[in-house]
Amino acid sequence: MSQKVAGLKKEFQERDVERLRNLIKGKHGDKTRSSVGFSKADEFYAEGDIWEADGRTWTIKKGIKQNITKLDTAKKAHMMPLLCPNCKKVMKNRNDNTYYKVHKTCFRCVVLKEDKLKREGKWDEYHNGIINNEIDNKIKDFKLWIQDKVEESNSGHVSEDGDVERWVGKINKDKVDDNIKDVVEYLESLKK
Ligand SMILES: [Zn+2]
Repeated sequence: MSQKVAGLKKEFQERDVERLRNLIKGKHGDKTRSSVGFSKADEFYAEGDIWEADGRTWTIKKGIKQNITKLDTAKKAHMMPLLCPNCKKVMKNRNDNTYYKVHKTCFRCVVLKEDKLKREGKWDEYHNGIINNEIDNKIKDFKLWIQDKVEESNSGHVSEDGDVERWVGKINKDKVDDNIKDVVEYLESLKK
C-alpha cells in the first residue's frame, strides 16, 4: 500500500470513529470535519466561487453553500423597473420603490387607484385583499427559507478555514414539517 493511500485510510477511519462516537452519544447536532478534496462531493470552493453541480448553479456566500439560481430569481422579483408598468412614466418619486414592491405600479398610480376605490365604496375589500396577499407571500417565503435551511444542512457548511463541515445525523423531517404547519396555520389565522 502506498503511503498516500495509507494516509487516506487512516484519516477515513479516524473520521468514522469520531462520527460513530457522536452517534452513540446521541450528539446529533455535533459537527465532524471531512478533509478538503476527499471526494468529488467535497471539492473545495472558496467564498464567492460559482460552480455547477446537480444541474444547478452554486456559490458560497458568508461561508454557506447556496443555490445561486434561486437567489437571483428572488432578487429580480423585488427589482423596480425604470418605468411604471401602468402609466409608463419614469418612477422617481421617493415612495415609488416601497409602493412598487406591493402594487407593481408607481406611487401616483396607487394613490389614484385607491381614491377611485374609496369613491366606489370598495376600499375595505381591496385593503383586506392586500393584507391577505402579503400573508400569502410571507408563507411562500417562509417555506422557501425552511427548504433552503434543510438543503444547507444536508450539503454541508464551509468554515472560515475552508474546511467542509457536515452535520452528524439527519434532520428530523417530521419535526420540520410540524413546525412549518404551526407557522403557516398562525399566518393563515391573521387573514381578514
Ligand atoms: Zn404609474
